[in-house]
Amino acid sequence: MKKASTLRDDFPILNQEVNGKPLIYLDNAATTQKPKVVIDRVSSFLSEENANIHRGVHHLSMNATKAYDQARSAVAKFINANSDNEIIFVRGATEAINLVANSFGKSLLEKGDEILVTEMEHHANIVPWQLVARETGAKVIPIAITDHGEIDLNDFESKINKRTKIASFIHVSNALGTINPAKRMIQILKAKDIPVLLDGAQAVAHQAVNVQDLGCDFYVFSSHKLFGPDGMGVLYGRNELLSKMSPYQGGGDMIEVVSFDGTTFREPPERFEAGTPNISGAIGLKEAIDYINDLGWDTIEKIESSLLKYCTEKLSSIPSLKIIGTAQKKVPVLSFTMGSAHPHDIATILDSKGIAVRAGHHCAQPLMKRLGVSATTRASLSFYNNVEEIDQLGEALEQVSKIFEN
Ligand code: PLP
Repeated sequence: MKKASTLRDDFPILNQEVNGKPLIYLDNAATTQKPKVVIDRVSSFLSEENANIHRGVHHLSMNATKAYDQARSAVAKFINANSDNEIIFVRGATEAINLVANSFGKSLLEKGDEILVTEMEHHANIVPWQLVARETGAKVIPIAITDHGEIDLNDFESKINKRTKIASFIHVSNALGTINPAKRMIQILKAKDIPVLLDGAQAVAHQAVNVQDLGCDFYVFSSHKLFGPDGMGVLYGRNELLSKMSPYQGGGDMIEVVSFDGTTFREPPERFEAGTPNISGAIGLKEAIDYINDLGWDTIEKIESSLLKYCTEKLSSIPSLKIIGTAQKKVPVLSFTMGSAHPHDIATILDSKGIAVRAGHHCAQPLMKRLGVSATTRASLSFYNNVEEIDQLGEALEQVSKIFEN
């Protein structure tokens, strides 16, 4: 097992100063940093192995194809998909949700049908459904959340009815850190034959995901939030559903035969991967997954749960600070407000001390409205953070508190 104190050294970017202070990176929910093994793997692929896949019989192309296919297998194993063919490579969680909304949702939804989401969704899991709803006459129905930032399970059950045709909800909240009781919710939905998409963008970096155990039909995430390259993401879909879905985009590599009389399409996953994909991105993602597997979820969860506890205690001791999102089950994401201090001002003061946090609505405007705030400041941690950094954050926020007190 790796020592927590040396994990930081795996991430070269963390070893720098910002505004004359050692960088304290607490914006991991926006994007995670990349271990050197991922950077090196992408670099070695581009400098020594680069070629387009699937179309060549030459050495480089065949090896690149093999590496791309191995990346798909690594992802399938990582989330326990039943087969590699259930893994579609896309640009990110956003594209994955758009793909499902268009290819699956559109063929399913009719006027008056309902799409169930929650009040804590990221815009990426609201807007694609609204666009499809506009075309089909369906409606997007939000499930209420509690003041602690947990799904109101009574409201959830009361919102399921004969018109509910699909549910699409967030596994872990980007703005609050809440881990939703996804398995339980999916069981309730599946008992009524309602297909479910789970947005795992914020879940995959913090806990093991087992799509078969969860029982979801679709699961989406982005590589860049999982220590991998950006512009790369994953849609998991159960083969039974994917094989019946129409293509999302047309182009090369997704066809069987093309003629002006008509075109036939390949089976998934190729049917949904038109054009040259992000080959180096897939290969980098595999390296990130290998890194996490080496580290192990037990280590990650142990470090992160103690960081969450420590940070929650530290922030709670600052008089004017109010933590937004106090769910029982959380990943180490801490959103907060501080009296009259604007989140952007707080984040700017923290930046002057080398501390990177995010301020704003976190692409969750309906959630902010529900909680009665226009924005929050968010510190989101990863396993490479440490208590010294949390102490520095606490000290800086004490100073902010004093500035705005006067
Ligand atoms: N869903 C959640 C919960 C997110 O936090 C994000 C990004 O912050 C997304 C979806 C969209 O991810 P991407 O921008 O990588 O497509």
